[in-house]
Amino acid sequence: MKRYSAFAVAREAFRNHLGWDRAWRAARPKDRYDVVIVGAGGHGLATAYYLGRNFGITNVAVLEKGWLGGGNTGRNTTIIRSNYLQDASAAIYEKSRSLYESLSQDINYNVMFSPRGVMMLAQTQHEIRGYERTAHANALQGVETRFIGPREVKQLCPIINLDGPRYPVLGALWQPRGGTARHDAVAWGYARACSDMGMDIIQQCEVTGVRSSGGQVTGVDTTKGSIACSKLGLVVAGHSGVLADMAGFRLPVESVALQALVSEPIKPCMDVVVMANTVHGYMSQSDKGEMVIGGGADGYNNYTQRGSFQHIEETVRALVETFPMISRLKMLRQWGGIVDMTGDRSPILSATPLSGCFINCGWGTGGFKAIPGSGWGMAELMAKGHSPLTAEFGLTRFAEGRFIDESVAAGVAH
Ligand SMILES: Cc1cc2nc3c(=O)[nH]c(=O)nc-3n(C[C@H](O)[C@H](O)[C@H](O)COP(=O)(O)OP(=O)(O)OC[C@H]3O[C@@H](n4cnc5c(N)ncnc54)[C@H](O)[C@@H]3O)c2cc1C
Repeated sequence: MKRYSAFAVAREAFRNHLGWDRAWRAARPKDRYDVVIVGAGGHGLATAYYLGRNFGITNVAVLEKGWLGGGNTGRNTTIIRSNYLQDASAAIYEKSRSLYESLSQDINYNVMFSPRGVMMLAQTQHEIRGYERTAHANALQGVETRFIGPREVKQLCPIINLDGPRYPVLGALWQPRGGTARHDAVAWGYARACSDMGMDIIQQCEVTGVRSSGGQVTGVDTTKGSIACSKLGLVVAGHSGVLADMAGFRLPVESVALQALVSEPIKPCMDVVVMANTVHGYMSQSDKGEMVIGGGADGYNNYTQRGSFQHIEETVRALVETFPMISRLKMLRQWGGIVDMTGDRSPILSATPLSGCFINCGWGTGGFKAIPGSGWGMAELMAKGHSPLTAEFGLTRFAEGRFIDESVAAGVAH
């Protein structure tokens, strides 16, 4: 693989950009791999990448039923933060956030990580208490956050209306090194790095069955034939329940559509990410100038990757209270992605009842931020059978009552 660099861009400028290689090979499935990962979203690709980078395991295939990054990874609103409450969460989300800081250099692909700062608005007395508690917990966990007052909120984000008709802005939990990254680039960058290590990324290849013998996984059936493997990683977000069913076990997750929308592009007016959980909406401005707006999850289980009018209305109506200037914007696009929610709003990174089969799911509405850290931990779990990052996120915690309650930090926002 030719490295991307300023010199390479200059060189190609002189030869009509004809010298670039394809970012990744269009691979055909082999009969057998050491490891098969199902799902070429960010988490599946990152798992494959760290298997190769950290453990030298490169006889790996990543199977994708659609196109690479076409699931939630290419549909999310790209908020990155690590201001969670519980220690196990702070550890994996902060590992992830810190890996984002140098990800572009690590994988030689510009993922446009922009640590512009994330604020979660406190608009009730209850939220003030909750966020102050989180700020104290974060201080103990080594995560840089602090509670700021309304004046500082206004300084950081002048387009905010502090005196909303229902909910005035009373302060915010501020994480200065939170931010955003380009979602497609994260998937493309990992895919290119995996392909460079000799791994096969096989698109348009749907897994239709999981094979096993004597309680041990032996391979998968796919729309491109059967593939044998010694270890299998199921990393399919909203379709986790479907794949778990194929592997013969059940998951405590629900699949629902989560929606988002973007406005027409406007001049730069907001250089932080704002989440307003009480009125329910969150917003940032993309490099193209569009206001990227996150809405809520559907109130019923479904597999539709579409938006709906009532969500646009609810979300925009809520945000207009806090950002009156958006009332005059036209909305350009809306969409949905299928997210998998657990009862404690924390993910599952775990071995399963089928030996050799591992699962990574349950990131719900907030797994984009976790891609590098999750891939790091999942690779360690699959390679060594144990990872300090994933230890608390096992499947058995639901039966044992060891919940990692992040319903306040995760909620429906990100
Ligand atoms: C509207 C929206 C906004 C969001 N905003 C944020 C945010 O701001 N910040 C944040 O941190 N998170 C956010 N999220 C959540 C985040 O997008 C997800 O948690 C994350 O992208 C999950 O990544 P993944 O790799 O697990 O799943 P995906 O990217 O969904 O990848 C799973 C892949 O598995 C494939 N697959 C499924 N079944 C099969 C099969 N049988 N065979 C082969 N392949 C299969 C799918 O096609 C898919 O490509 C948002 C999500 C949505 C929908």
